[in-house]
Amino acid sequence: LIAAVVDSMSLQLQKRDTQLTLHLDAITDELEGDELHLSNVIYNLIDNAIKYSVNEPKITIETASSFSHINIKITDEGIGMTREQTKRIFDQFYRVPTGNLHNVKGFGLGLNYVQDIITQMHGKIKVNSEKDKGTTFEIILPI
Ligand code: ATP
Ligand code: MG
Repeated sequence: LIAAVVDSMSLQLQKRDTQLTLHLDAITDELEGDELHLSNVIYNLIDNAIKYSVNEPKITIETASSFSHINIKITDEGIGMTREQTKRIFDQFYRVPTGNLHNVKGFGLGLNYVQDIITQMHGKIKVNSEKDKGTTFEIILPI
């Protein structure tokens, strides 16, 4: 599913000369959920990783699984956020004020949708970010 989303974004990734590294574990366990919504979740996180990077984005996607959960991490080396800013990013319409420095457009809805879908799949989403260093979003879903 992740590979298919990445394929569908090839033009967008190329346009920004994105360096994308995939470490996808072969996960044989089954997840219960909605395939289209889960694809949209991955899409939104990759879209953000591209948008909130300056110059050529460097993105890594890793998956891992345990007996009870699968884990998806999407890491970028973009503009990052302060801890204070990360507290609000899942709120509807919230966008970190970046002034004119990064003229990227959006509604502030993507992450609210992402969190909603992951919650409905009984999962969790976490964010770890450092200003000017980069950001990791981690999704944990029950098998
Ligand atoms: P859209 O509705 O088109 O997704 P958006 O990208 O602005 O618009 P969200 O995806 O909800 O909205 O993200 C909310 C805000 O969180 C963004 O505006 C940005 O400030 C911050 N943000 C999200 N992802 C990242 C990231 N990978 N690196 C740095 N900041 C991020
Ligand atoms: Mg977004």
